[in-house]
Amino acid sequence: METTATAIKIEKIKTSKISQVDFDNLAFGSVFTDHMLVCDYKNGAWQTPEIMPYQAISLEPSAKIFHYGQSIFEGMKAYKDDHGDAFLFRPSDNHRRLNISANRMCIPEIPKAYFMDGLKELINLDKDWIPQKDGSSLYIRPFIFASGKGFHASPADEYKFLICLAPSGAYFSGKVKVLIEETYSRSANGGVGFAKTGGNYAGQFFPTQLAVKEGYNQVIWTDDNTHENIEEAGAMNIFIRINDTLITAPTSDRILDGITRKSILEIAQAEGIRTEVRKITVPEVVEAAKNGSLKEMFGAGTAAVVSPIAAFGYRGTDYDLPELTDSYASRFKKIITDIQYNRSEDPFGWRQKV
Ligand SMILES: *Cc1c(COP(=O)(O)O)cnc(C)c1O
Repeated sequence: METTATAIKIEKIKTSKISQVDFDNLAFGSVFTDHMLVCDYKNGAWQTPEIMPYQAISLEPSAKIFHYGQSIFEGMKAYKDDHGDAFLFRPSDNHRRLNISANRMCIPEIPKAYFMDGLKELINLDKDWIPQKDGSSLYIRPFIFASGKGFHASPADEYKFLICLAPSGAYFSGKVKVLIEETYSRSANGGVGFAKTGGNYAGQFFPTQLAVKEGYNQVIWTDDNTHENIEEAGAMNIFIRINDTLITAPTSDRILDGITRKSILEIAQAEGIRTEVRKITVPEVVEAAKNGSLKEMFGAGTAAVVSPIAAFGYRGTDYDLPELTDSYASRFKKIITDIQYNRSEDPFGWRQKV
């Protein structure tokens, strides 16, 4: 057992599993590295974080996570450059957002040092697991859940904060066909849509399955009240390009404040691309599709960076988007990944060496 400067207990695995992994065929988030970080919250305080071999954890059947869904998570990545150095992208923003989610779900905030030092220590230990192939990366999943026991519907008194790492191959979403959803809602005014909390995603599975049965890959979420305003693309933020203007919905308590979304907005500004952060309605997009001014729609999120939409369905009609050779989506993807993989300057100060 070792102890680091920031008092993280480290128990190393005896024999690494890395030689058993086929790095050329990595399904997203299905293979895990040798180690994980675990930190317990009890007696009103976060205890010393521990890094240990990746393993199952045991919980009381009455643990509140199982009954009341008190759980939050983050999604981020570590990237390796040609020299083998490892980098994170805007990691402080993930920490900040985890605590925003924590507050909404009555989960105690995780101190920044525990998050950042624990993350860096863990990544350094499992650095060999960061794939070096272009587009591949190490997906990072920090999460907190209620481990405290009892059937009473109230916040738990004990929590666990974990970080697990999953090497992942390049994310090719292919041609995504989406359905504009008018029956189900992802989130509501005053709800928890802005938090990365488990139930938000469980609630998406059923409407998404219905859309898949109809031949679509994903749903486009509209606002719960009127179903007129376009808000998100599955578990990604959405951008719509009409002529040369890039439009995205303003964040609210219904919309997740994505780090990819805000990075794209900053890059667009630097590139002189006109952006509008405003409500955008389905009729406006349908009209633009009909008159040819609709140029692009794409999702934005950490996993895929950008996920171009090839067509959208609305009230029984499918509308195709044009195939562009020099799309905004591919421009943003190149600029962002060049920064992430240390292939370009980082004028925004987003890249952080591990
Ligand atoms: C995580 C997430 C996003 C994207 O956030 P990033 O920080 O860009 O990864 C967008 N929408 C939803 C609903 C999300 O859960």
